[in-house]
Amino acid sequence: MREPIGRRQLLAGAGAALLLGGLEGCTGTLSTQRPRIEPSLRLAPVRASSDRITRITVCTRPFRAQGPRLDTETVGSKFIVHNYGHGGSGWSLSWGSSAIAVRKAMASGEREMAVVGCGALGLTSALLLQRNGARVTIYAKELPPNVRSSLATGVWSPDSRICLAEHATPAFKQSWADMARTSYEVYQNFLGLPGAPVEYIDTYFVSDEPPSARGRRAPDTRPPFAELQRELIGDLIPQSTDFAPGSHSLGARYLRRNSLMMFNLSAYTRLLLGDFIANGGKIEIAEFHTPDDLRKLREKTLINATGFGARALFGDKTVIPVRGQLARAIPQPDIDYGLFYKGVSFVPRRDGLVFQAVGESDYYGFDDDTAVPDRAEADRAVTTIAQLFERSNA
Ligand SMILES: Cc1cc2nc3c(=O)[nH]c(=O)nc-3n(C[C@H](O)[C@H](O)[C@H](O)COP(=O)(O)OP(=O)(O)OC[C@H]3O[C@@H](n4cnc5c(N)ncnc54)[C@H](O)[C@@H]3O)c2cc1C
Repeated sequence: MREPIGRRQLLAGAGAALLLGGLEGCTGTLSTQRPRIEPSLRLAPVRASSDRITRITVCTRPFRAQGPRLDTETVGSKFIVHNYGHGGSGWSLSWGSSAIAVRKAMASGEREMAVVGCGALGLTSALLLQRNGARVTIYAKELPPNVRSSLATGVWSPDSRICLAEHATPAFKQSWADMARTSYEVYQNFLGLPGAPVEYIDTYFVSDEPPSARGRRAPDTRPPFAELQRELIGDLIPQSTDFAPGSHSLGARYLRRNSLMMFNLSAYTRLLLGDFIANGGKIEIAEFHTPDDLRKLREKTLINATGFGARALFGDKTVIPVRGQLARAIPQPDIDYGLFYKGVSFVPRRDGLVFQAVGESDYYGFDDDTAVPDRAEADRAVTTIAQLFERSNA
């Protein structure tokens, strides 16, 4: 377990480490006599080893340069509200995005509704329709845990690959901020529940170099992705705390700690599905190949939450795959913090630890729909995190 430490205690530890660093710089011979300073932050070691990997999953994020599609169209007698294309933010924005889609669907006046798709966006659309008094049937070719949403990292990441910066117009920003704030509020209602569907964790950005010495990346000529959180919902980001070498148990490294919302997707998805069924919701397994196939549905109004599937179903080539691979490992209940180190993210999900190479930029995996797991990438991710706990750190 991480030692519970007070803020005052932590600052004292960091101050001592800085002082020690100063002394070291000018008095080499004193080093053998200096008193050992106990790090004030002890992080329980993650059992990061390749033999503990239980499975490697690969999934594609449904990225659209212009952001999610939330417009409406009519196909024959069907009124379709689109709700897809959320890149790496689908879980995070789900409640807010689905609230928009549901308002549009309810405005049709219908009370028998169809939702096509049973991932993050389909489930939240269906639940919100029910809360608005509609009777809802979900039609989908796959259900959780066999949907792409079940293969996500499972953290609050509302602007991750949500659109390109050039498409982040003032109107888009307003809509994104509304979605993010709505979702954030709804997620607070899932805290403290049995099975911890949603919880907050501490997460540490770890670097071998002090912030001042970190090299700048080579310039990237590709159009940048939008980064919206600091500008638009900065008030929702808790303040971070820095730890200098000597003030923590991860060796001569620099740590920045922040709080992050984490979704334990197995428990969370089951909860959503259970609520939907308990509210009288129905599910039918169905696959649609063209928009015309949707004419067969009983309902006149439907929400299209087919995610990456919309690319084929609606011929929407603006949906671009961004490959992401998770190495899942045996859960370790004593680990309650996340890490980010050398382009690898570690998330302590209760339903299995998540190690993931995330590369140098959001272009990692861009336009790559390779579904085959890459064992070497998984091993690399795990061994990168393992380095933080090697004995030489002590
Ligand atoms: C590696 C990775 C990590 C991620 N991490 C995060 C994260 O930490 N936080 C976050 O917020 N987001 C994350 N995301 C993004 C998030 O997972 C997606 O944005 C989200 O899953 C999209 O959900 P969806 O409901 O639109 O699509 P899906 O989950 O793909 O669901 C689509 C549904 O539609 C059905 N369907 C599709 N086509 C058809 C058809 N033709 N006929 C019938 N049914 C059909 C499917 O069976 C399924 O039920 C991550 C994504 C990846 C790949």
